[in-house]
Amino acid sequence: MKKLVVAKNIGFCFGVNRTVRIADSLLKKHRTLYSVGDIVHNPIVMEDLKSRGLKVTGNLGEIRNCPFIVRSHGIGRDILTRLRRQGVDIHDATCPSVKKLHSLIEKLDKEKYFVIIIGNGKHPEVQALKGYGKNTLVVQEGSEFRDSRLFEKLAVIGQTTLSFKDYLKTADYIIGHLRYRKIVIYNTICKVTEERQAESAEISRRTSSVIVMGGRTSSNTGKLYQNCRQFNDRVHFVERIEETGDISFEKISSVGLISGTSTPESFILAVKEKIKNKGYKEVRINGKRRSKQASGRKDIEL
Ligand code: SF4
Repeated sequence: MKKLVVAKNIGFCFGVNRTVRIADSLLKKHRTLYSVGDIVHNPIVMEDLKSRGLKVTGNLGEIRNCPFIVRSHGIGRDILTRLRRQGVDIHDATCPSVKKLHSLIEKLDKEKYFVIIIGNGKHPEVQALKGYGKNTLVVQEGSEFRDSRLFEKLAVIGQTTLSFKDYLKTADYIIGHLRYRKIVIYNTICKVTEERQAESAEISRRTSSVIVMGGRTSSNTGKLYQNCRQFNDRVHFVERIEETGDISFEKISSVGLISGTSTPESFILAVKEKIKNKGYKEVRINGKRRSKQASGRKDIEL
């Protein structure tokens, strides 16, 4: 029997779900809603929201007399200050886990810490984070930052969607290569990200091929893809349903299905249907058989 294993942790995470719900309810009340940058990193979700009145702009001067939504990754303090001055009606849909990081950096700033942010400097979450303190610096590998001064108080935090292993590796480099009197390392990696990384590793080890669904600009989906490739040679990244047509299922006895945190359920269902139509039956890893009564079908363990 050809098997399909669908991850338990799939679809929107709570942060993205919240952002999309806020946008949805604002678009029901207003004809236009503004944002700076995509509010979530998935083109299907963004196309739907834009078709209903969401306008994404980089020109702050354009945002007047209409509501504004803050994206899930958050935005910088400077942008918020300017929009407030313009009298814009701001609706904060920043993920609560990211919001906690803003408060943490503000607190560390008051306590005179120099804050090192490990992450991708081009990602909107990181770009926003660095503006929440006066003495912040973004590093990706750690080795690109050379500084021989003696730091009195050093704090290290990470982009929420990093793999924990990579975060520790960079933090370890910083501990060994900088001079400081006091250093504090925070675990700021989102639990959702950690769970999906762990589950995707297990699925990749135990299936012949893996499909990772999500937007190509989504950091956590990209990390899942990289993670799966460490355990499986046949990993496919699927952003649009048409891309499933390019996948060869020849000699593939089992397929794993994984998604990033901004991938909508409707898309996951469509991909699932395509695979089932190729003769794959849904099974679970290490799970108890679900009763026929509860689920309406019987699952088989892999
Ligand atoms: S992955 Fe975590 S930090 Fe990112 S939006 Fe989802 S819940 Fe928030």
